Amino acid sequence: MPPPEYNVTGHDYAQRGHLKYQGPLIDIHAHVMLTRPGDPPSGPPLPKGTDSSLEQAEIMLDVAGEFGIEKIVSMCYPDDIPPLRERFGNRLDFNGYITKRKIDDPDDTAYQALDRYLELSVKIIKFWSAPRGQERGLYVDAPWRIECAKRARAAGVKIMMVHIADPDVWFRTVYTDSAKFGTKPEQYARFETMLNLFPDVKWIGAHMSGDPEHPDHLEALLERYPQLYIDTSATKWQVREVSARRDAIRALICKYPDRFLFGSDLVTHHGYVREHYVSRYWCQRTLWESEWKGPSPIADADYTPPEGGQPTPMLHGVGLPADVLGKVCYANARQLLEEGKHESQPKR
Ligand SMILES: [Zn+2]
Repeated sequence: MPPPEYNVTGHDYAQRGHLKYQGPLIDIHAHVMLTRPGDPPSGPPLPKGTDSSLEQAEIMLDVAGEFGIEKIVSMCYPDDIPPLRERFGNRLDFNGYITKRKIDDPDDTAYQALDRYLELSVKIIKFWSAPRGQERGLYVDAPWRIECAKRARAAGVKIMMVHIADPDVWFRTVYTDSAKFGTKPEQYARFETMLNLFPDVKWIGAHMSGDPEHPDHLEALLERYPQLYIDTSATKWQVREVSARRDAIRALICKYPDRFLFGSDLVTHHGYVREHYVSRYWCQRTLWESEWKGPSPIADADYTPPEGGQPTPMLHGVGLPADVLGKVCYANARQLLEEGKHESQPKR
């Protein structure tokens, strides 16, 4: 049997002596959802079902607690929020994703989703705008998204998250048809439109703002847009690309220690074993707080090993200084979420 994706190197995740950070953490980017036995093997779970279970959320939050994670901000279906809130209380906050399932869905479907999330007092709204969403018209600066951002801001939402780009390697493998998918720079032009339209919103660029391959580009964005924050989520991607240029990324985070936020991008899924969740938190913490070096324990389909080389990329920890870690792992997110509290009461 091939090794499981969460541990292809036979790694012992009980090895945690190198994890020196003692403070609490906030995971600003994850998908804690109810799950069902009939959920598709890849992709998000089904939106509804009588057999919905909190079991995976229980496992994930238990693992998170073991890694010091005090709070997780979850993206999930609106229907999942009440049962999750009832079970986990303040350990979860919520981020509502504003999307369309099909290109010809009327704009009202997005506005209705926004209303629903606002009723549920989400702290953040998310515009998932990866190039593969263009077929569904999921441009970050689509008119219906601009309208959603205006309405959300008027309702008191102060934080918006954007998934704007994917790994450079995908633009060489998945997105080769640039007539269909556009280019990576075009994605950022659209994002900058939103940053300019909404300077009083705190924006979170998910997954190292989509560009861990280019710390100089991230630096330019941080410089130009003081309201931009960057989360560290998408573990495989960050392990591969951050490790490969750890000195530059370290220097960047140390230059802007108030602008980075710890995140995992873990997703609950029916049938996952505990070690799946452990693998991501172990790698994320190892990457940022230690100088651990070794082959990444998690499978990475985007990595091309050299002939005869290891099947996974090197994980080489950045080893952020303690004061910076305190900000990235906790204080920055804490402050953002405090500021992001709605003044308005949830609508009935
Ligand atoms: Zn995500």
